[in-house]
Amino acid sequence: MQAIELISRNGLTFYRFPLLARFPEVVHGVFTRLGGVSTGPYTSLNLSYAVGDRPEAVRENRQRVLRALDLEELVGADQVHGLRESVVSATATAAATELPAVDILITREPGLGLLIKQADCQAVMLYDPEHRVVANVHCGWRGQVAGILGQVVSRLGKLFASRPEGLLAGIGPGLGPCCAEFRHFRQEFPPKFWQYQVRPGYFDLWRLSRDQLLAAGLKPDNICLAGLCTKCRPAEFYSFRRDGVTGRQGAVIALRPRQPGR
Ligand SMILES: [Zn+2]
Repeated sequence: MQAIELISRNGLTFYRFPLLARFPEVVHGVFTRLGGVSTGPYTSLNLSYAVGDRPEAVRENRQRVLRALDLEELVGADQVHGLRESVVSATATAAATELPAVDILITREPGLGLLIKQADCQAVMLYDPEHRVVANVHCGWRGQVAGILGQVVSRLGKLFASRPEGLLAGIGPGLGPCCAEFRHFRQEFPPKFWQYQVRPGYFDLWRLSRDQLLAAGLKPDNICLAGLCTKCRPAEFYSFRRDGVTGRQGAVIALRPRQPGR
């Protein structure tokens, strides 16, 4: 099976994992920066309110994402490279569109899109077909050091009785082994990560995420990897490492609304 496929809908261009797309009850999209209204360094589908872009533009961009996926609501997180999760319900999102200080979003509520924003970090989305739970994780190198992927698998098990071997995961775009340079890796990474060094100072953080999911009990065939480097693909992706001041693309996963939106 192809790891990822490109979709164009309502003027937006996004990727999809065939592994997840075969479940009609799940909706997901790994968005590129194409098809939004933001300008300048944020051109064009910036989904973050926290990077200096005009809020009206971000609001419109988020509406476009909702329309492209035919969803009703989008909930994001004020991502902090921590390990906390939020189990999101419809009432929780009435209060805020950005949940404070979480890096893991989980829901069983149909129609509610879980948004992870990134520029170089990975968004890792998970689905448990047995218990109909979706999760989306902000997974940067700090999250990898802290073990966030093991954490989400363990939390899904505790909260919803998800079995690791029943979970499906898609690892989104991020810094590839071509660009993930860590000059101070001896201080930043534990020695067990050093095997992911592909040439002096460069690390394969994609393979690391895959291995962390395998270590948490997922099956190899249930993990797919986008394999797209955000820094190498300026036309498609924002990259903080490349540009500094820039936008954030989004990855969204949801359970399909019971009643189709609009
Ligand atoms: Zn690269």
